[in-house]
Amino acid sequence: MLCHLWIPARPLAVRNDKQDTNIINVMKETLKAKRSRVRKIIQTLRKVYPNPKCALHFSNPFELLVATVLSAQCTDKRVNIVTPALFQKFRSVQDFSKAKLESVEEIIRSTGFYKNKAKNIVGAALEIVKRFGGKVPHRLEDMISLPGVGRKTANVILGNVFGIPGLTVDTHMIRINGRLGLTERTDPVKIEFDLMPLVPQKEWTDYSHWIIHHGRTRCPARKPDCPNCEILRYCPAGKKTNSIVGTGLVPVRGRPRGSPLRKQQ
Ligand code: SF4
Repeated sequence: MLCHLWIPARPLAVRNDKQDTNIINVMKETLKAKRSRVRKIIQTLRKVYPNPKCALHFSNPFELLVATVLSAQCTDKRVNIVTPALFQKFRSVQDFSKAKLESVEEIIRSTGFYKNKAKNIVGAALEIVKRFGGKVPHRLEDMISLPGVGRKTANVILGNVFGIPGLTVDTHMIRINGRLGLTERTDPVKIEFDLMPLVPQKEWTDYSHWIIHHGRTRCPARKPDCPNCEILRYCPAGKKTNSIVGTGLVPVRGRPRGSPLRKQQ
């Protein structure tokens, strides 16, 4: 599971506008209008999900890197169960760089894909010791040169440890930004670049948190709760769905834009 960077909180009651049924035509929407719509989405989500925080437990940048690597295809909850023993046994980047793969594998086994994850964690530690003096680098270009660290993991660390804004594109970001009509792509890196001109840079980290949390609570892949969605009035997919509530039609699961409709199964 991706970006795990949220302490679960109940959505605050924020009025949506069920009467506003004008369908947003994203094909004709200008860049200026799209930016304006994104600003309104941000204003709303900020109220719904105040104080976004990282749900993964860590006490230094390398621990967040390890936790983020472990969170691939795994829940934050499971990662937080596993990491105390791991960080107890390996207390520093240097410790991880000298670790035997089997020792790491044994502890992280329950997070899945443990062999690959152990290899990446130890490999990243080795590189950090060798090339960066034992400190996690601050530059995205340096971070993505580490084993197992892609732009998503790098942005998680940059945004949550170093205060450098980053868009963390995970499965929720892919799905919901598609439904919002902010991207038509499915490749995470391309989506990140589609969003950059639309979302103010200083909001990149929090925007990722808001959207990811919204995906978990209100807008899952199956059965998004459009009638009660706080950003319904800004969502072309939701408006389409809302205008046919009761017909049994829902946005196609996980498809960018979410606009195509199919019969609910
Ligand atoms: S209106 Fe529906 S599709 Fe749009 S963000 Fe809300 S729950 Fe998701």
